[in-house]
Amino acid sequence: MRGGPELHERQRSEMVEQQIAARGVRDDRVLEAMRTVPRERFVGEEVQEFAYEDSALPIEARQTISQPYVVAVMVEALQVEPGDRVLEVGAGSGYAAAVLSRIADEVFAIERHRILVEAARRSLESLGYGNVRLRHGDGTLGWEEEAPFDAILVSAGGAVPEALKEQLAPGGRMIIPVGEGMGSQDLILFQKEEDQSLTEQNLGAVRFVPLIGTVADNPGGEAASGDNPGHRSSQFPFRASSAPSALDRLRRQAESFAGDVKEVELSPALDRMAGHTALLLGEASHGTSEFYRIRARITRELIQRGEIDFVAVEADWPDAAVLDRWVRGVEREGPSLAPFQRFPRWMWANQETLEFLRWLRGFNEEIQDPEERVGFFGLDLYSLHSSIEEVLAYLDDVDPDTASLARDRFGCLTPWEKDPQTYGRLASMGRMEACEEKVLEILQQLLEKRLEYERADGLKYLDAVENARLVANAERYYRAIYQGPKVSWNLRDQHMFDTLLALLGHHGPDASAAVWAHNSHLGDASATELGAGGKHNLGQLCRQQFGRGCYSVGMGTHTGTVLAAHDWGDPGEIMEVRPSLEGSYERLCHESEEPAFFLPLREEHSSADLRRELAVERLQRAIGVIYRPSTERTSHYFHAALPRQFDEWIFLDRTQAVEPLLDASDAELKGIPDMYPFGV
Ligand code: SAM
Repeated sequence: MRGGPELHERQRSEMVEQQIAARGVRDDRVLEAMRTVPRERFVGEEVQEFAYEDSALPIEARQTISQPYVVAVMVEALQVEPGDRVLEVGAGSGYAAAVLSRIADEVFAIERHRILVEAARRSLESLGYGNVRLRHGDGTLGWEEEAPFDAILVSAGGAVPEALKEQLAPGGRMIIPVGEGMGSQDLILFQKEEDQSLTEQNLGAVRFVPLIGTVADNPGGEAASGDNPGHRSSQFPFRASSAPSALDRLRRQAESFAGDVKEVELSPALDRMAGHTALLLGEASHGTSEFYRIRARITRELIQRGEIDFVAVEADWPDAAVLDRWVRGVEREGPSLAPFQRFPRWMWANQETLEFLRWLRGFNEEIQDPEERVGFFGLDLYSLHSSIEEVLAYLDDVDPDTASLARDRFGCLTPWEKDPQTYGRLASMGRMEACEEKVLEILQQLLEKRLEYERADGLKYLDAVENARLVANAERYYRAIYQGPKVSWNLRDQHMFDTLLALLGHHGPDASAAVWAHNSHLGDASATELGAGGKHNLGQLCRQQFGRGCYSVGMGTHTGTVLAAHDWGDPGEIMEVRPSLEGSYERLCHESEEPAFFLPLREEHSSADLRRELAVERLQRAIGVIYRPSTERTSHYFHAALPRQFDEWIFLDRTQAVEPLLDASDAELKGIPDMYPFGV
């Protein structure tokens, strides 16, 4: 067995905090029971290391141990109390029975596979959980000799067995996934009234293995259970496939357009999007033409209306700065940098972005004061090398003494500029001294001399400070990678947010930004699996900071093509995007049969019913610069509650790959640098 009891205890308490309490389970007894029962003791050795993953896991007899969150939700809904006698149908590994046994007085659990009953008995005995009785048999018949029960938990889905209704005590509750086949069950909570009648409440869609018995005969049969061991959330409640009512409401509310981005009538959407400090325009991939084009159109029209002062994108500061100088017609000083030469080049060096930049350059030409022109800035932090160069060049110009100090301090990092990951690894292992203090000292120097430096040239000063801050945060970021993905993710999004704040500060009190980045950075992370895992993001930080002054728009597609790489550093290829998965928002949108639409989700623009339906968590697809169709479900889908994540959703059913720009060595472009900001 890997990992000792202490590790498991820690994992358990993280599981309770991040997967269960964070998603709204509040009952202290349930949380405490989940914290107590060692889930690793109910699975085979080969999957023990995954015991605290947020998913169902395979057990013997091709069955599954339920996802911890599902167990917690079901037990909470049953309102189990000390003194209760509880029946579980479908004991499987015995885990849910064990959790119940930490609250109730007595638990009776039935399982139809003898091999599972024996394994469950061993697990429960070894833990000394003496108040669980197990029986091998057909649970649809209940356990008549021990009835009535205060609560009944059915861990497999099908029709509601009459025997179970009868064996429920007055005032008792039963929870059961009802419905035929996988993906179309509803989690129903029954309550037996004093007059023996049953009231019911639908808690949302779930996926459970079938309840197989003499009473509830499931046509799918056991072998075709379709249960997907190891797949995340195969039984996640409140996650629906496309229920007709959601679809109807969506159809009613969607503002359809023909799908041609050039022709879209934007007015109603622009009215909703105008007038915010931060308009966040998210994309569902870094390689889909329509996402770039519609985002550019919205931004253009709002710029023309005087609503946007600058565009800030998920790109590195120095690279975007080259484009900024080009669109504003400002002479560029400092090292000559051809922007976006590294992987993933197409993310910004694409025809769609170039078209927008050309338009913006033309628009800016009409504005006399360069400071009034609409700029283009980068929020990201992957440019350690060029940012160091930029800071040094700036200081050489304005303050040679500080420049030589900076050369000395940055010298700590320069050997690693081309391989910052190795620096991060060695520094985080304590194998070399971290350069943190040294790089912070230079940022500090720049901030302290603000008045002096800024007087000479505000924009150049902003450039230098942002590059120095980028160096400081990148230094931390590369070390944070080795503290786990959550730490580095949060640091990166915090950096993007701080950069946005600095830009807004630079542009004055009423400034307004259009932000272009991936959905995963711009949709509120607290409404997604990211948040449940302790991650926050730029969109969430913007909402916290600006409240209703932040308007976030997400995008999605059903199928088509995308420009992406199979692996980091691989060449970009045009790939087919697989049709969206059942149970996803994209699939629901596809089923509307509209080729493209805007879907406003803010209270004042949409119906409460629609928002309620869509708040039922579903899958959402996220393709970055990498696309792995063969492992699409695990690599590219996560759960989200759309109306909490975004203020508006744009859906384009079929989309095409972006058109990458030729690289800088292309002979044709060499003679026309003025027309080509991406470097020659
Ligand atoms: N609660 C279990 C746990 O924590 O491991 C999960 C059990 S699994 C999702 C559902 C179980 O229901 C399977 O082990 C399956 O064999 C069992 N099952 C299905 N139909 C049954 C029936 N009619 N009677 C008893 N068990 C049944």
